[in-house]
Amino acid sequence: MNSEIKSIFKVIVIGEMGVGKTSLVKRYVERRFSIPEIGTVGVNFCTQDVEVDDRVITLQIWDTAGQERFVCLSSCIYRGADCCILVFDVTSRISFQALDTWRDEFLIQACPRDPVHFPFMVLANKVDLDNRIVSNREVKEWCRRSNNIPYYETSAKNGCNLDLAFKTLSRKALQLD
Ligand code: GDP
Ligand code: MG
Repeated sequence: MNSEIKSIFKVIVIGEMGVGKTSLVKRYVERRFSIPEIGTVGVNFCTQDVEVDDRVITLQIWDTAGQERFVCLSSCIYRGADCCILVFDVTSRISFQALDTWRDEFLIQACPRDPVHFPFMVLANKVDLDNRIVSNREVKEWCRRSNNIPYYETSAKNGCNLDLAFKTLSRKALQLD
């Protein structure tokens, strides 16, 4: 592999508390659904290799918790991010409505070179539950208005669409799509 080509990508996972950020990362990286420890403070960090075309890249996944609201900590965490995953819970309208704020705050704190084309992704989580409130159509519309952010419906419980979502994110990070 050409060593000049970047192969480690920093991925930030944000969204309201309880939407399933920690569970999604655990499911993707550890292939299991477990009840996360309550009250995790600060940021969890893990890595996962992904095959994209004929390359292997490493995703450095930063799972934030609670304290990301504090400006100082979030700017330290967000700085240098290559991609950002916005998570909400399809059974919580508030968590969906909060996506604008999360996206805007991320851009302010991370200060990417090209905010208009920064690779975001939306994960509509907990689709395994039958008390869904936020419709697929609403999410599509929000993503379309937000400069066509790609969007996947996921469940940390059954793992649906997660591999696909991270593969798409990796391709975006490599700017293959
Ligand atoms: P975080 O605060 O965003 O990190 O959310 P957690 O990962 O801690 O999850 C909050 C709660 O939602 C926990 O009780 C999880 O077990 C549950 N949860 C997370 N993802 C899913 C999912 O896809 N389906 C269901 N049914 N429950 C989930
Ligand atoms: Mg968490």
